[in-house]
Amino acid sequence: MDDKLPDIVPESLPEKFEDLGLSKIMLRALKLLGYERPSPIQAQVIPWALQGYDVIGQARTGTGKTASFAIPILEQLDPLRTTKSPQALVLVPTRELAAQVYGEFLKLAEGCPTSVLEVSGGKHMRRQTRKLGEGVQVVVGTPGRVLDHLSRGTLDLSRLWCVVLDEADRMLDIGFRPAIERILRSCPKNRQTLLLSATLADGVRELATTYLFEPVHVDCSKKDLSVDTIEQRYITVGADQKFETLVRLLLRELPPQTIIFCRTKLGTAKLHRQLESRLPRIPELASYQLATIHGNMNQTQRDAVFKDLRAGNIQILVATDVVGRGIDVSTISHIINYDLPDDSDDYVHRVGRTGRMGRDGIAFSFVAKGQGDRLTEIEHLINRLLVVDPLSDPVAAKPTDGKLKVVKAEVEIAQAPQSFGEMPSGPLQKRRLNRMRRPLSDREKRR
Ligand code: AMP
Repeated sequence: MDDKLPDIVPESLPEKFEDLGLSKIMLRALKLLGYERPSPIQAQVIPWALQGYDVIGQARTGTGKTASFAIPILEQLDPLRTTKSPQALVLVPTRELAAQVYGEFLKLAEGCPTSVLEVSGGKHMRRQTRKLGEGVQVVVGTPGRVLDHLSRGTLDLSRLWCVVLDEADRMLDIGFRPAIERILRSCPKNRQTLLLSATLADGVRELATTYLFEPVHVDCSKKDLSVDTIEQRYITVGADQKFETLVRLLLRELPPQTIIFCRTKLGTAKLHRQLESRLPRIPELASYQLATIHGNMNQTQRDAVFKDLRAGNIQILVATDVVGRGIDVSTISHIINYDLPDDSDDYVHRVGRTGRMGRDGIAFSFVAKGQGDRLTEIEHLINRLLVVDPLSDPVAAKPTDGKLKVVKAEVEIAQAPQSFGEMPSGPLQKRRLNRMRRPLSDREKRR
């Protein structure tokens, strides 16, 4: 991969949605939504996507990445075509994210007769099948359920022109690689592919190398990983002192709305029980409403929790990573990593639940004895030292060596023009046509 790619200088980015060449109806929808200006990922992905390029957008959730692919898709939909084969497919790792992405599409499509269908597990198969049969323009779904429909012949991808792999790193973590590959192989070769990922782990690079055609790489991750508005601290704590330290932290912070992350379903359930029995006995915290969310809950239960969280009826949510990742609630003020995640990337995703779209947020990570290396790994990834919080147990191990090695994410793949100044002017159709005319590369022959 080419690591000489210049960063796109923020000053040169389009500052207004009007500068992106969007339709009047889209500009109206954006105004209604109160989106005043494009976020960095939107300013960088939308112009390339509108030109028909394959794009790798490196950004986490909370940065406006959904609209960065939803806007160009909606702008290019053929309004008269509602066939059994959708025009665009968005693959996401979780049901929660599917629901959010679906919601964002509907909001952005305000004023247009656009048919979008959410196709994820936990929702009625028969209803999905009926809707697919009637014809939809955009399908948003999880790889498992999408593949299920493909196998049953209830979904036809033969006339699709755009595929989005949203949170590609997460989909691979969950083990969706075979499903994604089978789905991609069922799509037309001259399609456009947009891949969004917080990190460019090896698996993601491989996927991009195999299935994307000369992609443009837009990297908003460096900015994201050290989101300035999120204060990040750690608290050293002995294993047997964790719960008491958490109670002290909650008492000190009195957080308006917080998510507490645990590593396992069992740990999540246990902590939820402990808090349920303790908080009512602490006057300052007695009125806090608690909830938990983890993989053992069914979709209806999860949806109810998300709804309550958004409505502000829940102040403390105890969650695991997989479901926690899909949470898009802009009022979350505090993130508490009760257990450090096994994977440093998950840290980024967890912390990203606060400070959404530039709002303030604070994240605390409990670091137990022997976990210093894990913390250092996280610090390397986000390229920033976490600050020690005074609640720390002075006798617990000093968790970090304090030496921060600057780790520069290697950037590969992109060979396409690299700045807005070099943006090609050819229309989308021409590019697609060229792609069809040129001989297949070895890589594509293998697809
Ligand atoms: P996402 O990263 O796509 O999950 O978006 C995070 C949140 O930001 C969502 O609630 C979006 O509705 C909102 N959002 C997306 N783009 C913008 C924008 N340009 N201005 C303000 N809010 C936005």
